[in-house]
Amino acid sequence: MNALANNYNRRKIAFKRGKGSFLISTDGKKYLDFLSGIAVNTLGHSNPYLNKALLNQSKKLWHVSNSFLIPEGEKLAKKLVKNTFADNVMFVNSGAEANEAAIKIARRFYFKKGFPNKNRILCIKNSFHGRTLANIFASGSKKMIEGFGPKVNGFDHFEFGNIKSLKNKISKKTAAIFFETVLGESGIKVNSIKFLKEVKTICKQKNILLILDEVQCGVGRSGKFFAYEYAKIKPDIVPIAKGIGGGFPIGAVLMTKKVSECMGPGTHGSTFGGNPLAMAVGNAVMDQIFKKNFLKNIQKLSKYFIKELNIIKNNYPNIINEVRGVGYLIGLQIKVNQAKFIELLTKNKLLTIRAGENVVRILPPLNVKKVELDLALKIIKKVCSNYK
Ligand SMILES: *Cc1c(COP(=O)(O)O)cnc(C)c1O
Repeated sequence: MNALANNYNRRKIAFKRGKGSFLISTDGKKYLDFLSGIAVNTLGHSNPYLNKALLNQSKKLWHVSNSFLIPEGEKLAKKLVKNTFADNVMFVNSGAEANEAAIKIARRFYFKKGFPNKNRILCIKNSFHGRTLANIFASGSKKMIEGFGPKVNGFDHFEFGNIKSLKNKISKKTAAIFFETVLGESGIKVNSIKFLKEVKTICKQKNILLILDEVQCGVGRSGKFFAYEYAKIKPDIVPIAKGIGGGFPIGAVLMTKKVSECMGPGTHGSTFGGNPLAMAVGNAVMDQIFKKNFLKNIQKLSKYFIKELNIIKNNYPNIINEVRGVGYLIGLQIKVNQAKFIELLTKNKLLTIRAGENVVRILPPLNVKKVELDLALKIIKKVCSNYK
């Protein structure tokens, strides 16, 4: 009997080591890791620069408390502010927490402005924002809320990509429109630039805050630091997590000054959020991601990779229906059994992960090498050509 709770469908592989884009299993097999702990290991496994940052900080100080100044956090916030729309940053520990904080901030913003009833949050139906109570009801997914009532109120839903459906659901009570710039878990669904621009216009007209959940698509994964940058719009609040710690649990809420002013001392907090150890690692990750040409290189190489995947798709139209995504946030929507396809890739030493709509997610580390992309292409081709 396993002492762990049974809330995951785990694949029967364990790993003992990782190096760059590769993982070594406990039985000594070497796998190309193209799921990166679900968009987390931004800079690959056992990155020397991150190892050094973690080790150095671990010898000095791990944790104090947010009742003191934390210079490492101020430094990381400054880096994020310098490179994004944001004026202020709040650190937490996970994506779900970052989203919860974002929801609180949006409500509090209108409360402080004297509109306490402007508190509803408009989300995309069947999206994903994490597993806390508020977030499962924000997702509008029947499966995620089953058995977890009573309902957490205050969320409305519109259909993905459908501006009419969004307009229909807006009321005077709508405080924020809140969705993933690119939907991850639901199947790598990219909101079009046109749609993002339209939403921003509506938000301006109707005095609604725009919260873009970039927990999965943010921090360079799309080829821009934030995926919404392709649309040249400016959100009000952006929760991030997964990629920012390169494997160390960090979440953050980025926001404009206008918004952050509503959150005075005592309105929100976290015991662990932004502790010195986490911040040291976050700073090291950002040093790499904000290096000149790092993002440009993702754009260039991922274009090549996606082009090649489309060639495979065209050669195996009975297996692959569509190649989705942007940057290194890629989905193969397949026409065959998802679990079996992923298992065959795994047998050939390529690790990927499922998403909704029968999509196989491919999330390489952001510093993946071209030869590694080519190796993955070779394996995908082989699995397609031998598929029975
Ligand atoms: C993973 C994810 C979350 C939840 O993050 P956790 O760290 O698991 O709480 C929220 N939003 C999106 C878009 C995600 O992909």
